[in-house]
Amino acid sequence: MKCKRCQIPAVVALPSHHTAFCKDCFLVFARRLVERAIKEHSMFTFDDRILVAISGGKDSLALSWQLKDLGYNIEGLHIDLGIPESSPIARAYAERFCTANEIPLHVIETAKLGLAMCDVKRRVKRPICSVCGQTKRYLFNKFAQENGFTVLATGHNLDDETSRLFANVMRWDVEFLSDQGPVMHAEKGFAKKVKPLFRLTEFETANLCFLAGIDYGYAPCPYSSKASFPIYKNLLADLEDIQPGRKIRFYDGFLKDGRQGFAPRGETSVDIQPCTTCGYPTSAGECGFCRLTALMNDEG
Ligand code: SF4
Ligand code: ZN
Repeated sequence: MKCKRCQIPAVVALPSHHTAFCKDCFLVFARRLVERAIKEHSMFTFDDRILVAISGGKDSLALSWQLKDLGYNIEGLHIDLGIPESSPIARAYAERFCTANEIPLHVIETAKLGLAMCDVKRRVKRPICSVCGQTKRYLFNKFAQENGFTVLATGHNLDDETSRLFANVMRWDVEFLSDQGPVMHAEKGFAKKVKPLFRLTEFETANLCFLAGIDYGYAPCPYSSKASFPIYKNLLADLEDIQPGRKIRFYDGFLKDGRQGFAPRGETSVDIQPCTTCGYPTSAGECGFCRLTALMNDEG
């Protein structure tokens, strides 16, 4: 198998793109997919201050590396979730990577807010991933808003996006379908959010890390089996094996022809107002983060 661009022996085969690349040409290919995503969806410019959500996993490290390499003005934010089995490892990867690549890294420890996820899991009845996700979204948004960042970038890849889309379609979750996409514009107290890796599969981001020499590890969250998206990811992976390219066509088709059929958030019946305690946008009077904090402090 030869590299499609330069004809030397290839190291990565990409059936969904009907191609194969050597190391250098794969890095050019990945870089172009990221540049295309940024341009096509007007994600940000070289004047923006970009806050990257850095979990320490391969996607967030690949994203940070690629944006830094392209010359964007980025800083990282890592949220230490206080899960003893995984958080110290994930944090160490994030810190090592940012030091090596001269990327300023901010860290928020949820334990210092009384919200170590191992304690939250013991005390709160709701599914832990829903509470954890809500906490992370709140903290990223708040940090971006309070520290003058113009955009918040996350490492969601094509597999994340298509599995979420698939799950939302299976539930006909109209509000989420209207919101889903590689860009969420700033509105009503929410920071602008972008997903520059949405054209790369998980396999491609893993290759990007490997071939770019990024030191990434795997610190699986012990609660991850409770997350539902992996089921949809596996189903789509099976489909992609039979029909290479199906995932990107599913997602591109949704952006081009499907999404417009669903009402944007402002036109649904949900009324977004500032939280009565902290001012964060919410539909519930007091936001979920403030209610969680109050609950944990009451019981703490
Ligand atoms: Fe949080 Fe669930 Fe992800 Fe663990 S798997 S980090 S609990 S969202
Ligand atoms: Zn609040």
